[in-house]
Amino acid sequence: MAKPAPRYPVLVIGGGIAGITAAVEAAECGAKVILVEKRAHLGGRVARMHKYFPKLCAPYCGLELNYRRIRENPDINVHTRADVLEIAGQYGDFSVKVRLQPQMVNANCTACGKCAEVCPVERQDHYNYGMGKTKAIYLPHPMAFPPRYNISKKACRGKECNKCVEVCGYGAINLDARETVMALKAHSVVLATGWEPYNGAKLQGLSFGVSPNVISNVQMERLASPDGPTKGKLVRPSDGKEVREVVFAQCAGSRDENHLPYCSSVCCLASLKQAAYVREAAPDANIYIYYIDIRTPGKYERFYQKIAAEPKVTLIKGKIAKAEHDPETGGVIITAEDVMAGKKITRKADLVILATGMQPAARNGLAGLKTDENGFFVDAALARGIYAAGAAKLPHDVSATIMDATAAALKAVYGRWP
Ligand SMILES: Cc1cc2nc3c(=O)[nH]c(=O)nc-3n(C[C@H](O)[C@H](O)[C@H](O)COP(=O)(O)OP(=O)(O)OC[C@H]3O[C@@H](n4cnc5c(N)ncnc54)[C@H](O)[C@@H]3O)c2cc1C
Repeated sequence: MAKPAPRYPVLVIGGGIAGITAAVEAAECGAKVILVEKRAHLGGRVARMHKYFPKLCAPYCGLELNYRRIRENPDINVHTRADVLEIAGQYGDFSVKVRLQPQMVNANCTACGKCAEVCPVERQDHYNYGMGKTKAIYLPHPMAFPPRYNISKKACRGKECNKCVEVCGYGAINLDARETVMALKAHSVVLATGWEPYNGAKLQGLSFGVSPNVISNVQMERLASPDGPTKGKLVRPSDGKEVREVVFAQCAGSRDENHLPYCSSVCCLASLKQAAYVREAAPDANIYIYYIDIRTPGKYERFYQKIAAEPKVTLIKGKIAKAEHDPETGGVIITAEDVMAGKKITRKADLVILATGMQPAARNGLAGLKTDENGFFVDAALARGIYAAGAAKLPHDVSATIMDATAAALKAVYGRWP
């Protein structure tokens, strides 16, 4: 006989691909679900990618299907701009406090964009990792779900300006909205808080944050994307010049006792994928990938071989020690070791991409829950009824994340332990 649906909803924290998957799978098993996402839109990091390895398809196909499953399922209740303050109680009967940031733009918003046209203030574009600007009232990105404008409280001049309120024909903007705290009951909890890119500025000598032509791998996703800051034109950030020499620096932070002691598992694949972006956007550019080891396990071996065999792609075993501004060309000079040739190399580059690793987003704490020494959740160390999924648990690719989140959803609904 089928088990009855849980009395209280399953709470999913984090609306990336792991959280979205856990939410739809749990709801389609008959549970009610509350999905809490701290940002204004769902999709997490993958919503900011240009393409997925190995198929090189756009993440939006899969995300859009999942958004439809959410839209069509009345049992899934989504709260964006929300995070969890407290989780108490036990499996089957958790009491949770959720902080709801002020919703200055409500569900009446039709995303017509008139508010942004009249807004006089600009802010750095968070979605594009600081490359480019948006207005203080902005749509996070063209495919944002929910498709609703959002206001940066820091940048907005409030009622002294009030232009967005005056132009909005739908009564969707309330600059007086305040933060609230919502108390709820949950049957079980899925932690799907994901990852953040390691801060490249912590890597001494690599000029991240010093030279605009040294960027991180997540910025490269935005630079290559047609809805990114350059509309997908691959140019030198400092002056918009065409790129001719492109260098990838692997293990920027990962596998380093001074930074992230673990392998972030997807960075080699991400750089190989981004080499394909360069091949497409700038076919004459030379591409150099400096690595410690190339790690492309299992089914990804073929993808590695395919990209490595592309013309103009060179893989060099050796770590980049220095990347410095080149006053002569405005580009970057890198110094690296070529392990196989047993020599030191210097090379001039237009663009250097640091393959910065993945750090758990919850490493600084979430409602007092235990993590390992690196900030990842470990199911066995969590209370019964609380399960982690996706990159909150381990650096994962998307297909492993989806499998893991599906398993977490089943445990959250049916109560298997661990
Ligand atoms: C450069 C790069 C390229 C990549 N390219 C690919 C690729 O092509 N193919 C592939 O398979 N994999 C790729 N990956 C891996 C992929 O990004 C991850 O597998 C995926 O993002 C994991 O999803 P997630 O939902 O676990 O985490 P995330 O995508 O990080 O989502 C977590 C969500 O939780 C939210 N959140 C965080 N904390 C809280 C909180 N306290 N409360 C509420 N919400 C919170 C976040 O805002 C976010 O929306 C790449 C990784 C990198 C570094």
